[in-house]
Amino acid sequence: MRRFLALLILVSFFLINSLTEVSAREWETLKGGNFIVYYRSGVPEDFVQTVMDSAEDDFKQVSENLGVSRYQSWAVEKRASIYIYSDADDYVKNGGQAGWSHGSALIATKTIKTYPSDEGFFDALLPHELGHIMLHEVVGKYANIPLWFDEGVAMYQEKAKHIGAQKIVQESLLNGQFISLTALSDMRLYSNSDQATVKLFYAESASIVNFMMTQLGEARFYKFCRELKENTRFVDALPKIYMHIENLEDLNKKWVEYLKGK
Ligand SMILES: [Zn+2]
Repeated sequence: MRRFLALLILVSFFLINSLTEVSAREWETLKGGNFIVYYRSGVPEDFVQTVMDSAEDDFKQVSENLGVSRYQSWAVEKRASIYIYSDADDYVKNGGQAGWSHGSALIATKTIKTYPSDEGFFDALLPHELGHIMLHEVVGKYANIPLWFDEGVAMYQEKAKHIGAQKIVQESLLNGQFISLTALSDMRLYSNSDQATVKLFYAESASIVNFMMTQLGEARFYKFCRELKENTRFVDALPKIYMHIENLEDLNKKWVEYLKGK
C-alpha cells in the first residue's frame, strides 16, 4: 500500500508538472482565409502577421503555378496550420524537430512548424513547404511520385526559383557527374549522404521540373498531375500526357538537349 501511495504521489507529481507545462506553453491563434497561425505568446505580433500575409500570398502563387487557382481554397475546415514556436529550443524540444532545421511540413496534416529566424523563411522555406503540401493535394496524398519530382515542384515555388541550379547541372554534364533521370528516380537521400551528391540531386530536381513547367507547358503539367491523381504510375502517365515522350529516357534526352542548347 505504501508503495502504491508513493507511486500515486509520483504519478500525480508528473501529471501536475506536465499540465502546468502545457498551460505555460499554450498557443495564441490568428485565423486567415486559408491558414490558422498558432504562435507562442511573446512571438512579435508583426512577425505573426507577416507569416499570415506571406502564407496567403504564397498560396495564391503556388496555386497559380500548379494551375489550380480556380479550384483551390482551404477555407474553414480545410485550412492549413502554421505553428510558430518561441525559438529554436522550443521548436526542437516541443516540436520534435531536428536541430539543424528551421522549419518543416507534415503533408498529411497540412501542418508547417517553424520559429522566428532569418534563415530564408519567407523567400524559400514557406513557399517550398507549401509547394509540397499543395502538390500532394493535386496528385493525391498517396501518389507514388519520384523524390526529384516532389522536391523539384517545391523548389519551383521558392522566390529565387533556384536560378543557380541550371548552372550546376550544366557543369555536371561537362565533368561527367550528371545523374540521368532514371538513376535520379531510384535515388534516396539519407542524413549521411554525400553532400556533393545531395547538392546535385536538388539542382537536377529543380532543373528538370523547371524544364517541364516552362518548356513543356504549364497546362500539360497540370494534366500530368491530374493523371497521377488517377493512380496512374509516373512512368505510364508520361507518354499518356506528353507527346513524343515514351519514358524517362526520352524526357532525360529532351532535358539534356535543352540544357546543352542554353
Ligand atoms: Zn522539400
